[in-house]
Amino acid sequence: MGLVVQKYGGSSVADADGVKRVARRIVETKRAGHDVVVVVSAMGDTTDDLLELAEKVSPMPPARELDMLLTSGERISMALLAMAIANLGHEARSFTGSQAGVITDSAHGRARIIDVTPGRIADAVAAGQIAIVAGFQGVSVETKDITTLGRGGSDTTAVALAAALGAEVCEIYTDVDGVYTADPRIVPTARRLETVTYEEMMELAACGAKVLVLRCVEYGRRSGTPIRVRSSFTSLPGTLVTGSIDDHRTDGEDGTVEHAIISGVAHDRSEAKLTVVGVPDRPGTAAAIFEAVAAAGVNIDMIVQNVSAAATARTDVSFTLPKTDGATAVSAITAVRESVGFDSIVYDDQIGKASLVGAGMRSNPGVSATFFKALADAGVNIEMISTSEIRISVVTSAGDLDTAVRAVHTAFGLDAAPDEVAVVHGGTGR
Ligand code: ASP
Ligand code: MG
Repeated sequence: MGLVVQKYGGSSVADADGVKRVARRIVETKRAGHDVVVVVSAMGDTTDDLLELAEKVSPMPPARELDMLLTSGERISMALLAMAIANLGHEARSFTGSQAGVITDSAHGRARIIDVTPGRIADAVAAGQIAIVAGFQGVSVETKDITTLGRGGSDTTAVALAAALGAEVCEIYTDVDGVYTADPRIVPTARRLETVTYEEMMELAACGAKVLVLRCVEYGRRSGTPIRVRSSFTSLPGTLVTGSIDDHRTDGEDGTVEHAIISGVAHDRSEAKLTVVGVPDRPGTAAAIFEAVAAAGVNIDMIVQNVSAAATARTDVSFTLPKTDGATAVSAITAVRESVGFDSIVYDDQIGKASLVGAGMRSNPGVSATFFKALADAGVNIEMISTSEIRISVVTSAGDLDTAVRAVHTAFGLDAAPDEVAVVHGGTGR
């Protein structure tokens, strides 16, 4: 039997009992004959607690020191887990990200993995040990400083290690039983997906689904590593992320796999909407606005430009952006007000985004019609729309978001029978 990489999130190791429960689960896998490498997150809300602590000593902590602080969370859980496994009579060794060969760039707080050289992990496994690796962290190839991969980054550590070690599967243990057709916290009738393709999972993650971070799915797709999302609180099979939308057809012709038209509805409350009012309708103004935003390092998502009013030859341009970048974007655009010649800026952070994702959209006419009819019937007003090949997203008011998600979920027949209702075992949704 092959190598399995298992990743346990913070809610699975929230306290000593959780650590012991996870240790038993790891030992079971080992006893079943697998080689096991484990990636672990910080216990419970440790990372948030450490961030708060940092804020108390400095309003703007140096990024290098913040990473040094935050990575200590994973060191606590990895050492405790190794102790708990040793107590069950198995040999375990814990390793920091740096010791495990997770090499990154030097962008503190959002470092990207450049290479994984897991020599020490492979040696530990060859010696029959269970290797426990601290998630969410690496070491910069340039500065040799310790880096973090961004919030939720342990998923990425796990898939990157699984790929580098040639694991047969990367199991991500979390506080829900798999990937659901919607967040069960909003849609109690959400159904667990048995499988979902990398592309659909990437769209769901990019549109706010918190169950996996986007980068880990990108990594899985690039390396062809199957990712199984499951709960550490049950023995249910969870959801397997694997395969491409190009391998699936919805008609079952040519002996190809039948695949659901729609895989789910994601939602996102992390964005705000910025409207530049009274923009002169001539070439170059949009470029000037978005150049200013880009120069400030702000990533934007949806963009809408209205038809200009004939009388004034002026138009409004709206776009969405992370709430955390709101102040930066407003001051960057304010700085070009005179040169661009617009009237004013309206900033609205009381919005939400609902996204319908499914590979079958490509070949099934009528998906958008059903989507918009569901929103209309629910009395939800749409502020912005954007699409990709396998996704339709709308921006609504924050207050309408839950209604929108539930209405769309029901309209596409995604609701589960009353006896298969989803269980959320713990945690806070991250
Ligand atoms: N502990 C880190 C966080 O809370 C990394 C992770 O959980 O994946 O973001
Ligand atoms: Mg966490």
